[in-house]
Amino acid sequence: MHATLPLLAATDFPPIRRRLLDTLQVNLGYKCNQSCLHCHVAASPQRTEMMDAGHAGLVLEILRARGISTLDLTGGAPELSPHFRELVCGARALGVRVIDRCNLTILSEPGQDDLAAFLAAQGVEVTASLPCYSPARVDRQRGDGVFDRSIAGLRQLNALGYGQDGSSLVLNLVYNPQGASLPPPQGELHADYKRELLQHFSIRFNHLFALTYMPVQRFGSTLVSKGTFASYMQLLRGAYEAENLDTVMCRSMVSVDWQGDLYDCDFNQMLGLHARLGDIEHPHLRDLLTHDPDDEDIRIADHCYGCTAGQGSSCSGALEPSEPQESVLKFAPTRIR
Ligand code: SF4
Ligand code: SF4
Repeated sequence: MHATLPLLAATDFPPIRRRLLDTLQVNLGYKCNQSCLHCHVAASPQRTEMMDAGHAGLVLEILRARGISTLDLTGGAPELSPHFRELVCGARALGVRVIDRCNLTILSEPGQDDLAAFLAAQGVEVTASLPCYSPARVDRQRGDGVFDRSIAGLRQLNALGYGQDGSSLVLNLVYNPQGASLPPPQGELHADYKRELLQHFSIRFNHLFALTYMPVQRFGSTLVSKGTFASYMQLLRGAYEAENLDTVMCRSMVSVDWQGDLYDCDFNQMLGLHARLGDIEHPHLRDLLTHDPDDEDIRIADHCYGCTAGQGSSCSGALEPSEPQESVLKFAPTRIR
């Protein structure tokens, strides 16, 4: 795989700082039951990096100590972590909002038969990837049979109340473009998804987030192999909208990897760009017990143009300039699947 950090490090992206930390995004490990072409984590069934019990316990300690309001669980497939359920229950007992970035096919994996019911019982928000409502396109991007299994997963969630009118169980979907292009306007896509999924599959959901691909890991490497890395960066830079700077997810979030190391977002985690925390060079989760992450400089590089292109993305879908982070993160979480 081609490393893309050397191509991204020199940047003229404007400097930004964190505001108040309200979300802890925890990557529980890179193991996944899928190995999608575009995956910016390069997750797969063969990956072995997974968070241990000590670090999972520390996550709960930090949530309590810092009064963090949202725990955003991601991976790989976060549900494959042996500590997923204890983290969910522990966070919910603290009154913390929990988001599960779910790939939908995990709901039909062996041993996960009760996963959907568990998520519903705990009131976990589900943000699920469905890159298109066309079966052929989804299968091409994510693997044979993934579309049908995704629809089966959505039906399970709908049957439990997710995405239904009057229900508090939130089900969000994530759209990705099919290649090196910007997503179309989120509002139009949302209407299309609503219509198509209801008409053909009787599926309901709450919100749709249209995300821009980041030129890192598998997707970035593919761009390099095809000789289109520079033109994709040009596309992102050309679509820069300054007002999106206000609402990128790193302004209110810290990302944690499976070993407890801290980053400003999941993309920086994949690039190995550690967060800044006082004078600590490679800060760790435990450092949040003694150091305040608010007002720290964010580690930027050229990939940050992916968060400010067009309607904005930052793994939370289109950004809402007048109501920073809170309005975006109320419904959306922070990472593409
Ligand atoms: S890529 Fe990460 S650090 Fe850069 S703007 Fe987006 S969220 Fe912030
Ligand atoms: S994109 Fe999501 S579902 Fe696909 S391999 Fe990566 S983590 Fe797994």
